[in-house]
Amino acid sequence: MALQGGCSCGNIRYTLTNAPLIVHACHCRDCQRVTGGPHVINIWIERKFVERSGAAPKSFLLKGGSGKDHEVFFCPDCGTYVWSRYSVAPGDCLFVRAGTLDDPAAVTPDVHIFTRSKLPWVRLPEGVQCFEAAYKDFSAVWRAESLKRLRG
Ligand SMILES: [Zn+2]
Ligand SMILES: [Zn+2]
Repeated sequence: MALQGGCSCGNIRYTLTNAPLIVHACHCRDCQRVTGGPHVINIWIERKFVERSGAAPKSFLLKGGSGKDHEVFFCPDCGTYVWSRYSVAPGDCLFVRAGTLDDPAAVTPDVHIFTRSKLPWVRLPEGVQCFEAAYKDFSAVWRAESLKRLRG
């Protein structure tokens, strides 16, 4: 079943027409600031599978942990952050914020990254994959079908 979501005011709505490639929980300082929370939950998915309706999001640029551009998209009317693009990430992909799903419980983080700035009271689930910063070896982290999809 396709996941659906949108911003707080409802002017941006979206449908994800395929499963996430992977779901990241990112504990970096940028994500903490932008979300106002301990970490973001990002659904990494090809842009062509994000069907948007309603208002076009606005964006601004941050320098990510890598020093590369991180473009953050938000609703021009209510300011909800709906997704990001990371120039360092392979493929033409978006990172959709799982908190904007109509049912945010529909996804669970596959991997926790930038745990070096994880807040001390956040307990990660036992056995979950985690990395101090970003990871480089996709084949060790990603499901085979997602690797295949990204590499086309
Ligand atoms: Zn809005
Ligand atoms: Zn982050």
